[in-house]
Amino acid sequence: MFAPFAYVRATDVTDAVDRLATGNAHVHAGGTDLLGCLRDEVFSADTLVSLADIEALSGVRESDDGALVIGAMTTITELAEHPAIAERYPGLAQAAREVASPQLRNQGTIGGNLCQKPRCWYYRGDFHCLRKGGDRCFAIAGENQYHCIFGGAACVIVHPSDTAPALIALDAEVKTAGPQGGRRLPVSKLHMPPGKDPTRENVLEPGELIVEIRIPAAPKDLYTSYRKIRTRRSWDFAVAGCALALDMDGETVRDCRVVLSGAAPIPWRSRPTEQALRGRTLNDQVIREAADAAVASASPLSKNAYKIPLIRGMLEGELHKASETLSATGGSQ
Ligand SMILES: Cc1cc2nc3c(=O)[nH]c(=O)nc-3n(C[C@H](O)[C@H](O)[C@H](O)COP(=O)(O)OP(=O)(O)OC[C@H]3O[C@@H](n4cnc5c(N)ncnc54)[C@H](O)[C@@H]3O)c2cc1C
Repeated sequence: MFAPFAYVRATDVTDAVDRLATGNAHVHAGGTDLLGCLRDEVFSADTLVSLADIEALSGVRESDDGALVIGAMTTITELAEHPAIAERYPGLAQAAREVASPQLRNQGTIGGNLCQKPRCWYYRGDFHCLRKGGDRCFAIAGENQYHCIFGGAACVIVHPSDTAPALIALDAEVKTAGPQGGRRLPVSKLHMPPGKDPTRENVLEPGELIVEIRIPAAPKDLYTSYRKIRTRRSWDFAVAGCALALDMDGETVRDCRVVLSGAAPIPWRSRPTEQALRGRTLNDQVIREAADAAVASASPLSKNAYKIPLIRGMLEGELHKASETLSATGGSQ
């Protein structure tokens, strides 16, 4: 059952910001996550402010400095199929293809994918958990097989988006609009660790919305990939996943970003893995060390220690694949 709410269609970004400033209003993008949350009373809304009529928020364009700018209302399908994304950032295209089902990718937007609520069954169920303003996280002593092994605090969700890790690996940033004006912030700073505030998924202030995502120009020999492991082959959220962005100098990793999904309450940048790779050649020993480094600081819960060998093996496999692809193509993807 839905509690009653008003539904308005904003005419432009300023109108959206004004309308979001009133009462308990929420952005309505594709509605694929939002409407389920309202139906299941995960949270409530007085007003939904639809962005569907704001043409400026849709589509992918190239900017003069070589960056790619993606409007927040661009659908996941458009991302998955866009030729410039497939050519320059195949890891992001792969992450988009891994999201949900074709129908959800046609309806769901990149802004909504970054801001969706977590999938913890206690949070989505009839439990007044910490994230809903209650006094505890039921997963800590409960059914926590799909929960985090890094970064858990009083709440142990995993962040659900497949595109966020891929965007962070690419050093993308979001541009926002809000009552205080707009700001730019790296996607890596968008999500809120539960240790700071377990009731918020992101750092957006009330009334603030994502307008676009900007991916900087890719270095010449950038290798990107996204791997997702799920419990079944049809659509499902990541039990574990990893986004790689390796900036290669011949056979040496000049710089890199490695971001895990299904592992932590926010997309989890594995800095120990990055450190183990930087300045080195992707040989068996380096790959083994990088994969070991990724899980060295894991703190599993009672039912998810299986994620440690899973993430380790997944990273080892992805780095071997990168090494083989780069040797076969002489250093480019
Ligand atoms: C069955 C199912 C399976 C799924 N599987 C996956 C999966 O495997 N991987 C994955 O990554 N995702 C998955 N999803 C999530 C899906 O990708 C998201 O529901 C979708 O991307 C959200 O986009 P939307 O446009 O529909 O957002 P909405 O549902 O409209 O909004 C989601 C949230 O984001 C906020 N929001 C939306 N746009 C903005 C904006 N521009 N600025 C600020 N806040 C905003 C809304 O207020 C709301 O809180 C799944 C969803 C379902 C229902």
